[in-house]
Amino acid sequence: MSVPSAVMPAPKMGSSKDYVSGLMALVKAKNPGETEFHQAVGEVVESLALVLDRHPEYRSAKILERIVEPERVLMFRVPWIDDRGEIQVNRGFRIQMNSAIGPYKGGLRFHASVNLGILKFLAFEQVFKNSLTTLPMGGGKGGSDFDPKGKSDMEVMHFCQSFMTELWRHIGPDTDVPAGDIGVGGREIGFLYGQYKRLANEFSGVLTGKGLNWGGSLIRPEATGYGCVYFAQEMLKTRRQTLEGKTCLVSGSGNVSQYTVEKLLDLDAKPITLSDSNGVIHDPAGIDREKLAWVMDLKNVKRGRIKDYADKFQGARYIPTDPMQDENSLWSVKADCAFPSATQNEINARDAASLVKNGVTLVAEGANMPSTLEATKVFLDAKILYGPAKAANAGGVATSGLEMSQNSMRLSWTRKEVDERLHNIMLAIHTACFETAEKYGTPGNLVNGANIAGFLKVANAMLDQGVV
Ligand code: NDP
Repeated sequence: MSVPSAVMPAPKMGSSKDYVSGLMALVKAKNPGETEFHQAVGEVVESLALVLDRHPEYRSAKILERIVEPERVLMFRVPWIDDRGEIQVNRGFRIQMNSAIGPYKGGLRFHASVNLGILKFLAFEQVFKNSLTTLPMGGGKGGSDFDPKGKSDMEVMHFCQSFMTELWRHIGPDTDVPAGDIGVGGREIGFLYGQYKRLANEFSGVLTGKGLNWGGSLIRPEATGYGCVYFAQEMLKTRRQTLEGKTCLVSGSGNVSQYTVEKLLDLDAKPITLSDSNGVIHDPAGIDREKLAWVMDLKNVKRGRIKDYADKFQGARYIPTDPMQDENSLWSVKADCAFPSATQNEINARDAASLVKNGVTLVAEGANMPSTLEATKVFLDAKILYGPAKAANAGGVATSGLEMSQNSMRLSWTRKEVDERLHNIMLAIHTACFETAEKYGTPGNLVNGANIAGFLKVANAMLDQGVV
């Protein structure tokens, strides 16, 4: 019998840089066409080259080769009937990426653009993000190419029920605990949970983001946006600055964007933009509490488009998205700070250069991987404060972890208690990233800090658990 690689002495090895490029070639060959997955892996392994020089044991145990391979990928048919009685067929997915430090945990995304590569990038990022939260959660992600936009509540319910009819057998409070993401908010979680409960015949904390009356946690809806702003506060502190009086760009207009704006207002900053996939609104007077309440009603209740903002509020202008343009007009608005909170790759190198040129000195990522690799390089080269997604937006999943704890204990913490825990977790994540960046010789580079700090805990758990 051959000796497991986890206990074999390290073979003679070439440079970490060569090893990492070989690994990337393998990832691209084994996962053709999954460009977002290649991008996410590429960013992480580039940082990890710094670790491998000091820790050859990770190479000999093939930790990286294992960490880029999902433990399990589920792909399934989701048939449902629309309001006209016509049969629709979507594709459902769940990527169970890594369970070294806890049950798989990560959101479900319902959006027309969803495919295997996008969910694998999200699941991969989730592994490191969840590790950073200090809570015992592995990484996963799932979703469907179903687009809830323009669908009736009945249609959304029929879809969610069909989706859960397959998913329920693969998840559980100690196995895999999904949550929301793009297109999956309180309404969808409710329908999904109802069907799970019916099929499994149990009331358990199998999903997070639940309604407050049936196991949800206070502050969960706010958590990603609030957490991202707390992270930004910590970054600014390192330069003895605060958010007070700072003009801020926020993209998107969904869950993360709304609560980013709310926390910015709490801290006397001035948010001036929002967007959706059709266009951008710029309100130089600032999006105040009254306007934010109107946006929340527009997006969460009426399910309307952000364009209506410019018709409603004088002085605001609407800029429709031009798919032919190689830039996003939101990032050319002059400001001090930017909070990308819509979707992946919404900032390219050109957008990043505009941001830096126009005086932005802080970027905190609410969305997952909103900056391309080239854009990230622009921020790092310019030495602005740059908070990468897996650290800056970890407040959402951290509070999901707190929801799991409350469910297990069968009690609910107050709003203040959850918010304090969230705040402390964001502080701890910032400290871990900041100190790790310094320890590995790249002070201030929170990309390296987040990737390395997130990796070490998972890698060590994988070493402890043998070749599985
Ligand atoms: P929502 O569905 O609530 O909102 C998404 C927003 O982004 C909408 O305004 C949507 O506009 C816009 N958007 C989506 N796709 C595109 C696109 N291709 N181009 C331009 N705009 C787009 O989702 P969330 O707010 O929950 O998620 C936003 C981001 O934050 C995602 O990257 C998600 O992965 C990330 N995130 C979310 C967490 C959470 O707790 N919810 C946790 C951590 C990260 P439209 O209505 O036109 O689609």
